Amino acid sequence: MVQQARHYLDYNASAPLLDCARESMIKAMSDAGNASSVHFEGRAARKTIEKARSSFASFIDFKATNVIFTSGATEAANHVLSPVIRAGGHEIKISRLYLGATEHPCVLQGGRFSKEQIEILPTNHNGILDIHALEAALETHDAHAGQPMVAVQFANNETGVIQPVKKIAEVTHKYDGFLVVDTVQALGKMPFSIEDTGADFLIFSSHKIGGPQGVGAIVLRDALLSPMPLLNGGGQENYHRGGTENIAAIAGFGAACEWHKENLTKNIKIFSLRDSIEERLDTICREAGNEIAQPVFFGKAENRLGNTSCFSVPGIKAETALMALDLDGISVSSGSACSSGKVKKSHVLEAMGASDEEMQGAVRLSLGWQEDNLGAERFLAAWKTIVGRMAA
Ligand code: PLP
Repeated sequence: MVQQARHYLDYNASAPLLDCARESMIKAMSDAGNASSVHFEGRAARKTIEKARSSFASFIDFKATNVIFTSGATEAANHVLSPVIRAGGHEIKISRLYLGATEHPCVLQGGRFSKEQIEILPTNHNGILDIHALEAALETHDAHAGQPMVAVQFANNETGVIQPVKKIAEVTHKYDGFLVVDTVQALGKMPFSIEDTGADFLIFSSHKIGGPQGVGAIVLRDALLSPMPLLNGGGQENYHRGGTENIAAIAGFGAACEWHKENLTKNIKIFSLRDSIEERLDTICREAGNEIAQPVFFGKAENRLGNTSCFSVPGIKAETALMALDLDGISVSSGSACSSGKVKKSHVLEAMGASDEEMQGAVRLSLGWQEDNLGAERFLAAWKTIVGRMAA
């Protein structure tokens, strides 16, 4: 049997490992040495880590000294969502955490805050945080109990909707709060400046940009302001994160950053494919006749990541569509990838006020930088078949 080529359109779940990342990982894995050792091998390991730190810092155009490597964005979120911030010689108490309703689960769970300290803020039907609700919550925040912390994502993993983080930072800082920005999906998919976000702490993940899984980073806007360490141990990562560094993964992350720095403009152009895919999906459904409803594109009225489209055709279940697409060699997601492998209701779409039927049909397409037209064409042809079957 001839194996048909597969088309991977699920980059927001995890991007394929870039060749340059694989090569630098293999090289780093073959070298002996603990980066904390003073001998030749130890110094070489340290050099590998610091090179990756510089590559990441250069990609985000920020200070390498303010970067802390972690095992991924989930660890980074649990680290920065801390009720205690160290500020030089003293500690600042954070008494309440304000979160957007469409946050990734690693943020939504609130890190080291207790359930009573967490307040979930609504979004509008396009997935944008309700800034008035944020302002009202901060207005009534009890400043005697401690300072507030706000956490929002730059871009949503399911819909690609981009939050007005600068505005959110202004409001947060007006009330003496700290802002955490989950920058995981924005990295490599849109240009941005750390300064412009106004964030105090940012979290990143390597595998969304073609680096290895299991490595990520925290960026501190001000090196003198840092959340209490989550992992206590040796003095690694400048006493921010104990534990021997995963040198190979860090090296791979650094290499992926170098590649993206070179290719960001070119990659973003590829994403323009998304708009034509959405137009053609509309046409496919319209031409299928009255039996088929028009697709709903979640968050379309807002700024979205150029590579992401989350849509639903009422009447077509995501589970059925995903299986048909998979058999046709196309990998996409339903709403969000779920750890159990099952399709479940998306809290993101629910927060946006989607109906049960819309949520059941939500399919997420997330294009990558290695995408050519072929994957898009195959996806559209397969979708036409699914719709045709429904209309028959
Ligand atoms: N934040 C967002 C927006 C994500 O999409 C993800 C991964 O899906 C994470 C955080 C968690 O990242 P990691 O897989 O590195 O823990």
